[in-house]
Amino acid sequence: MSRKKIAAANWKMNTTLSEGQALLTDLLAHDLDQGTDVVICAPFTHLATLAAQTESLDNVSIGAQNMSQHDKGAYTGETSADMLLAVGVSHVVIGHSERREYFHESDELLGQKLRQAIDKGLVPIFCCGEGLDIRKAGTHVDHVITQLKTSFASFTAEDLSTLVIAYEPIWAIGTGETATPAQAQEMQAAIRTYLVERFGADMAAATPILYGGSVKPDNAQEIFSQPDVDGGLVGGASLKADSFSAIINSFS
Ligand code: PEP
Repeated sequence: MSRKKIAAANWKMNTTLSEGQALLTDLLAHDLDQGTDVVICAPFTHLATLAAQTESLDNVSIGAQNMSQHDKGAYTGETSADMLLAVGVSHVVIGHSERREYFHESDELLGQKLRQAIDKGLVPIFCCGEGLDIRKAGTHVDHVITQLKTSFASFTAEDLSTLVIAYEPIWAIGTGETATPAQAQEMQAAIRTYLVERFGADMAAATPILYGGSVKPDNAQEIFSQPDVDGGLVGGASLKADSFSAIINSFS
């Protein structure tokens, strides 16, 4: 089964609205491989505008970087799935390591956010990954599979038919340090094996698994050519149209 090739941008808390519009306009002016699905995960304030800007494009989608696990109500400062859908957002990042670390989002909470995204029809980009201490201790595979097992505990294969996973070793995010293609492949193959055992071969074969962590134009092609790497979640290098377009065009 051939899986989607995805290049997802995580702009994090960067760009004002006008800067974000200009960045997207610049990106779309590049010659982008039409076989790659591009997802722009932008700040909340940009989402409606960027969704309108890309409405007519089949292969460019807009994603949020977080959302509430609740439906609606007295949750000051939160943003619901319905609010995202109403402005044309189709994807949502769940469990980015910065949310886990700075906002103390647990595997259980992320399972609730995943439930909300699935029930509402948003495509979840579910992040997992280990810190440097865990990598050095050699327990990285167990750590990541435990994250997934905990968050996915209540789900069926059917529930997760739109799931996208992003493996992001924390030691490689924003550090300039990239996992080697072999390190990415080792983990992503282990994740796929877990998906086969837990959800069956069809679901595992259909689920895109992205790599994230200092993806750049000069390393993207080698990483994306690994059999279990279906694309990237890209932070820093997505903030320049030239570098992100080169990454989008790095699938062989
Ligand atoms: C990220 O934010 O998910 C990320 C991978 O960042 P960077 O590409 O800058 O390491």
